[in-house]
Amino acid sequence: MSFLKSIFLKKHAETDQTRTTLNELFKTMRESVIVIGEDTRIFASNPAAYDAFARSNGALENKRLSEIIRDLNLHEAFRKALEEEKVSDVELAMVGTDKKYDVRIAPFAFDEKRGAIGIFYDISQIERLENVRQEFLSNISHELRTPLTSILAFVETLEDGAIDDVENNLRFLNVIRRNAERMHHLINDILELSSIESGKITIEPKKSNLSNLVEEVFMNLSNKAAEKRVKLISEVSNETIVFADAGRLEQMLTNLIDNAVKFNREGGSVSISHATEGGNDLISVTDTGEGISGEHLQRIFERFYRTDRARSRDIGGTGLGLAIVKHLARLHGGEISVTSTIGKGSTFSIELPKISD
Ligand code: ADP
Repeated sequence: MSFLKSIFLKKHAETDQTRTTLNELFKTMRESVIVIGEDTRIFASNPAAYDAFARSNGALENKRLSEIIRDLNLHEAFRKALEEEKVSDVELAMVGTDKKYDVRIAPFAFDEKRGAIGIFYDISQIERLENVRQEFLSNISHELRTPLTSILAFVETLEDGAIDDVENNLRFLNVIRRNAERMHHLINDILELSSIESGKITIEPKKSNLSNLVEEVFMNLSNKAAEKRVKLISEVSNETIVFADAGRLEQMLTNLIDNAVKFNREGGSVSISHATEGGNDLISVTDTGEGISGEHLQRIFERFYRTDRARSRDIGGTGLGLAIVKHLARLHGGEISVTSTIGKGSTFSIELPKISD
């Protein structure tokens, strides 16, 4: 074999090897990759790109980029890579979907072909989390600012002379205390929720007597219920045993029964019952309150979601109670659900996996 021919064959073997390696590499990438030629038609793409962009377009190869993605900035970046050999980064929001990509576009040469490559990094999830984080922060700031503004205003009033007004100074101090308590309550709930969400809380499910737990919660909330003349009724039989972390179940019941009292009518009632359904324990808290409309029902387990923000604040709510219950139920491998009829009342049910013995 001539020297030149052996070099030629070696070069071809190397190119084949490179092609295979590149193919394998692109195939395993989570990022979508699209390579276009000088005619702006796609001549290579990977399975991730097919999944992301081909659903309504069929195969990508030989299509013009503009048939697949309509975005002026992206097209301009590909043009720059083709004509000026420039690398650019572009953020792409796919119209009609909630998909967002961070795209790197660069010149690309292979097999003596010149073109441009786009690598699409899906940032939709990061964006979503960032929105949730920002919304959470803005909610917290708002919730803390309201009582704080009130505290500052009343302190100023006292400083301006109201401290000597024997008829009113205690009333003002009382408002300050109530607002400080609200901030305290809110911060406790935020810390609690954040510990649960970050997995710092572990639960220890054991056989627990449900009836005793209910009685305990009733005792703690008896003053609040009496103030509103709301009757607390336990329909749970004495020997009912559920498999749960007793402290956490008490916390869930406290939140639900507290709400059932708060959002009840004067002279109404709250009943707690237990049933076995589909092999699971179902603990239900039913009230005779105003009920919750369908549009709110979907969202009340979200952090800070309240059907009437001002009213919930007035009656001492943080908007975090149900989010905490939802997380605690899930930590038990269970779930929380709600049904409601406007004008008649609501039933919140905690479903817990049954004892496994
Ligand atoms: P809050 O601290 O405001 O009670 P929650 O997370 O416990 O926060 O509840 C969220 C919202 O769900 C409440 O503000 C209220 O609008 C609604 N809600 C909860 N429980 C009931 C109920 N038993 N009856 C009517 N509305 C309720």
